[in-house]
Amino acid sequence: MTDKNVLSDFRPNDHNHEACIAAALEIASAVCRERELRLTPLRRRVLELVWQQHMPVGAYDLLDALRGDGRRADPPTVYRALDFLVENGFVHRIESLNAYVGCGEPEHAHNGQFLICGNCSRVAEMEDPAISKLIREKANALGFRISQQTIEVTGLCGECRERAQT
Ligand SMILES: [Zn+2]
Ligand SMILES: [Zn+2]
Ligand SMILES: [Zn+2]
Repeated sequence: MTDKNVLSDFRPNDHNHEACIAAALEIASAVCRERELRLTPLRRRVLELVWQQHMPVGAYDLLDALRGDGRRADPPTVYRALDFLVENGFVHRIESLNAYVGCGEPEHAHNGQFLICGNCSRVAEMEDPAISKLIREKANALGFRISQQTIEVTGLCGECRERAQT
């Protein structure tokens, strides 16, 4: 990754995704150990399911997958696990899609800026302090106090654009 403001780029379809999932779970375990949080088997499994693909996944898809595991899960179970994962930065909620995506760098708190491909649904996450600062300043000038700042931008990723041209 050349741009340090990019936390998670659009992944090529042929990358070693097993390694991505393993790394995400490893980081989550380490962060939970350090902050004395409990990464229960259910929370861990939900995190793993969110990481199945680099695209946002809905709570009901997660519920289906958990039931597929043979767990007796209901919607509150899933939402409680998701709340934990979102609160601690392991997962981000994409409001415009009502879905969740894994974060590659949960170690530090950040304002995510998301690029969402309208064709393949893959998501890239940026964290450019210059963008956050500009928004904060503009908001301040209007007397507005920001409580949470998440930017969601929709468009077409590079791979989908290339495919559209051929
Ligand atoms: Zn991957
Ligand atoms: Zn993030
Ligand atoms: Zn795409």
